Amino acid sequence: MRSFVYTAHRARVLFGTGTVAELRAEVERLGRARAFVLVTPALAHRAEHLLGPLAAGHFDGIAMHTPVEVTERAERQLDRLRADCLVSIGGGSATGLGKALAARTGLPQIAVPTTYAGSEVTPVVGETAAGVKTTRSSPDLIPRTVIYDVELTAGLPVDLSVVSGVNAMAHAVEALYAAQANPVVDAFATQAIDRLTRALPRIVARPDDPDARADALLGAWLAGSCLGAVGMGLHHKLCHVLGGSFGLPHAQTHTVLLPHVMAYNAPAAGDAMRRVAAAIGAGPDAPTAMYDLIARLGGPTSLAELGLTEADLARAAEQTAGQNAYPNPRPVTAGGVLALLTEAWQGNRPAPVGRQPQPDIGPLTEQVVASFADSAEPRTAHLLGELVRHLHGFVADNDVTEAEWQQAIDFLTRTGQMCGPTRQEFVLLSDTLGVSSVVDLLTNSRNPDTTPSAVLGPFYVDGPPVVLPGADLARGLPGTPLWTDIRITDLDGRAVAGAVVDVWQSNQDGFYDVQLPGLDGPVLRGRLHTDTDGALRFWSILPSPYPIPTDGPVGQLLEATGRHPYRAPHLHFMITATGYRRLVTQLFVAGGAYLDSDAVFGVKNDLIVDFERHTGPTPDGRDIAGGEWCRVDFTFRIAPED
Ligand code: NAD
Repeated sequence: MRSFVYTAHRARVLFGTGTVAELRAEVERLGRARAFVLVTPALAHRAEHLLGPLAAGHFDGIAMHTPVEVTERAERQLDRLRADCLVSIGGGSATGLGKALAARTGLPQIAVPTTYAGSEVTPVVGETAAGVKTTRSSPDLIPRTVIYDVELTAGLPVDLSVVSGVNAMAHAVEALYAAQANPVVDAFATQAIDRLTRALPRIVARPDDPDARADALLGAWLAGSCLGAVGMGLHHKLCHVLGGSFGLPHAQTHTVLLPHVMAYNAPAAGDAMRRVAAAIGAGPDAPTAMYDLIARLGGPTSLAELGLTEADLARAAEQTAGQNAYPNPRPVTAGGVLALLTEAWQGNRPAPVGRQPQPDIGPLTEQVVASFADSAEPRTAHLLGELVRHLHGFVADNDVTEAEWQQAIDFLTRTGQMCGPTRQEFVLLSDTLGVSSVVDLLTNSRNPDTTPSAVLGPFYVDGPPVVLPGADLARGLPGTPLWTDIRITDLDGRAVAGAVVDVWQSNQDGFYDVQLPGLDGPVLRGRLHTDTDGALRFWSILPSPYPIPTDGPVGQLLEATGRHPYRAPHLHFMITATGYRRLVTQLFVAGGAYLDSDAVFGVKNDLIVDFERHTGPTPDGRDIAGGEWCRVDFTFRIAPED
């Protein structure tokens, strides 16, 4: 066992959604009455409103890297206002200004962070004077109260979310190989990397996902706690040099440099790198896993793209290696830093640590691609060539091992063996990987004026029974009666008469008729025709969520990746009319389960519709014996044939 010292900082932390509403109470809790608010212009009004009479005034001239002239201007205003406490609302720049003012005035600070920078839980402030950024540290600089409000981060643009999240991960990575590393901080660091690795892709996919935002903010707090507890190394030093002396943006610089500094330090920090790799979970090599994650998230990968010139590299390397204030697991030399910076400037993927460089697979790939040149159809040659290029690229980028490839082949073999006349496991695989939805989007949803399409799914049966207007497709099956009243129009809103509309849906328990042996003919499916107003109406029952089959390899894949198998509740429609493009789509029940995590990625916002609940008389006078019934009204817009 290694002995260690751990310093816990005293700070009160509120974490949650809507917590900023506590701002005024927290100022009162500190016994203060005149808050000077450091805030981005967009939030100034809200902050003053929340503080009410406790708002002494606000300053919105915040600048990155805490230039002293900005701090001095803010300090003059603070004096004029006779403020007795500081409230910073914003990213690391707002928090930093608060700390710089706290250092000059001794006033207590409440920090409300809106990025993932982590400064709010550290005793450090970096200030820039005459183009040089220097840091100082004192427990007195730590904000007394931190209010984490997930809601305030929901609007942080995706690109800033990504770089700010990687900025946070950088604190955690350097903490794992810090000279003062200890088991407490290690636990914070690995949790932070784990949470941010999983949250950021979800934020990229859906920026206002509250769970992903909460995970990222919690990860940022943990990462900031690492930064506040142990000393940072070469990575933070380099970022300060490039930010302070070369004007590079803070979080973006962290993002580009992190994989390269990790690669530089990896030979001397094997244990830390193993922990990082395990937390990212993408493979054994932490620097390449970090680089690939950033690239996948759309983050910047080269210093050139941030505006650094090649001529700056040597100066930056000398400045970094010259001032040896930062401990680092591997000795820092000007030559070593220059090589690292050159790689980062060019945006290269770091070479996997401790492995021989990959052989060049380019000629082999091109040989395979060329083998399709004599295909009868040029499109066949093109598609196969692209498939091979992507496959070879996938294998090379991920250093796929023989065992992993064998596992993939076994998986596909079992998928094929599961297929038969009533079960198509490959369709399920395509659906659950989102490929079916991508093909559908590209094929059918190019015209934004039409109703969006959605996947056909495996339960359509050609030639459903023709039913009369107003008929009940449920034929007495239990469930909440549903009245569906739809219209079909062209793109100018003119009725499309005589359209053939096939509808099908699951029963109350989530099963389609074809899944239920012993049923007397089709049920909950039918073919209707629109009248001269382009309208049609029918009864059925409210659809339920249901699981896709999980007793095959696709089910195992879902289980292994922590995914549920459920589809959001929906009604299927296939609309065919002479002179128009066929529309296959689905209507989803607003407020239904799994809308944001549909197992086959079929949900589109424009297809989520209110299924209103009613009691009392029904539209066609059907007697529901006073019970509850639902109705859905929807107009489908279909496009003319190409
Ligand atoms: P930032 O505070 O400059 O914010 C970046 C941009 O995002 C700004 O334009 C800001 O107005 C905007 N923004 C912030 N929150 C937003 C939101 N929720 N929605 C929309 N826009 C939003 O950048 P940052 O990366 O958070 O902080 C960088 C600064 O913090 C640097 O000066 C860095 O040195 C410092 N920092 C210090 C520490 C420390 O411990 N001392 C730690 C991390 C960062």
